[in-house]
Amino acid sequence: MDLSSGYPFWLIKNGLPFDYPKLEQNIQTEVAILGGGISGALVAHYLISAGIKCVVVDSRSIGLGSTCASTSLLQYEIDTPLCKLKNLVGLENAVRSYQLCAEAIETINTISRKIKYKEFEPVKSLYYAANDKDASFLKEEFEIRKQYGFQVKYLTKAQLHKQYKITAPCAILSQCASKINAYSFTHSLHQYNIKKGLQVYDRTPIKNIDHRKNNVILNTEKGYKIVANKLIYATGYEAVNYIKEKIVKLHSTYATISEQANEKTKFWKDNVLIWNTADPYLYMRTTADHRILIGGRDEEFYDPKKRDKLIDKKKNQLVKDFKKVFPSIDFIPEFTWTGTFGATEDGLPFIGHYPHLPNSYFALGFGGNGITFSLIAAQIITDLITGKKNGDAEIFSFQRI
Ligand SMILES: Cc1cc2nc3c(=O)[nH]c(=O)nc-3n(C[C@H](O)[C@H](O)[C@H](O)COP(=O)(O)OP(=O)(O)OC[C@H]3O[C@@H](n4cnc5c(N)ncnc54)[C@H](O)[C@@H]3O)c2cc1C
Repeated sequence: MDLSSGYPFWLIKNGLPFDYPKLEQNIQTEVAILGGGISGALVAHYLISAGIKCVVVDSRSIGLGSTCASTSLLQYEIDTPLCKLKNLVGLENAVRSYQLCAEAIETINTISRKIKYKEFEPVKSLYYAANDKDASFLKEEFEIRKQYGFQVKYLTKAQLHKQYKITAPCAILSQCASKINAYSFTHSLHQYNIKKGLQVYDRTPIKNIDHRKNNVILNTEKGYKIVANKLIYATGYEAVNYIKEKIVKLHSTYATISEQANEKTKFWKDNVLIWNTADPYLYMRTTADHRILIGGRDEEFYDPKKRDKLIDKKKNQLVKDFKKVFPSIDFIPEFTWTGTFGATEDGLPFIGHYPHLPNSYFALGFGGNGITFSLIAAQIITDLITGKKNGDAEIFSFQRI
């Protein structure tokens, strides 16, 4: 699958920071993890920490799936607003999903400190009404989040303008959010995990997989075998190759990043993450090296050729969108990219055992919260493998197909 094109910023910034070998022999392990992006890296981190021998294998160089294209905003706010999610999955599961995403951000912070990763940066998140007709929905969303204990403030039009210089009907300001670089975080995790015994192989496509009664055999394109007791699919959107039901709708998304400003430049108050209620939504963040990153303008198709032809047009549209929000901030686009993106019907990920494939688990962090979902997947799957009860597993399980 063609997952991204153009110039994903983190790939340009960090290049290929580490070398990983190809698999060139038969091996045996307790757990094989298919996919070495951020999901595979987090799952491996939890498994290795639990003392389980595991191996990561990826067809691409590490991180070159969706992970390098990620704009890497960490939010507890799921693409489906809480006041709508409760109607899809029930109030309890909806609130719990939001709580788990909030906890995931804190846990990623803890992991970052543990592995001495420096690019995790806590910030607030600002969610504003894109037009007058979304104002009452945003108020309802604010009320339900407040009721269930999320740290939120409601900003009126005047407060929003005074504090953030944004002209919009109203906004929710959330305390819990952060910025990261998913690509460098993935490499940092792998480097840490390798020191704890993880084996990581890249440029090693798995051509076919034999799910047997007592184990799983992964056959590489070059004819080597990985024999594992369990297999975890951390294959990102390429999971559609292994699951017969249509669990995710694939589309295309776009992002553009500005040239570097000088380090004294102030963009907006507290460099909060900003997104809005439009469909598709517009979002923006700043980076540690003084750039502004804007994303959105999604198209409802997966067709890499058609998607790529639109890169230049989308860049111009995103810049125009930004100028409408912040007419007085300079934005000179430097790198633009596009990627495949996927959303599930309820906005929640699919995590856990897929009954048609024995001895396997899926860690599929789809949607705008892909990264926080990957962390939740790592926790749930590790519990399932180590035989611990996990009260949240059902919320994201395949049973809801
Ligand atoms: C433009 C864009 C912006 C985004 N912004 C955000 C954001 O702000 N916040 C957020 O939380 N999420 C965001 N996401 C989503 C997030 O990036 C993804 O959820 C996340 O990167 C998925 O990581 P992954 O490890 O599951 O998948 P991937 O990074 O795609 O890794 C899966 C790996 O599996 C490997 N693989 C698959 N099949 C095989 C096989 N047969 N053999 C060997 N290897 C195989 C692939 O090569 C691939 O490297 C964004 C995504 C895009 C595209």
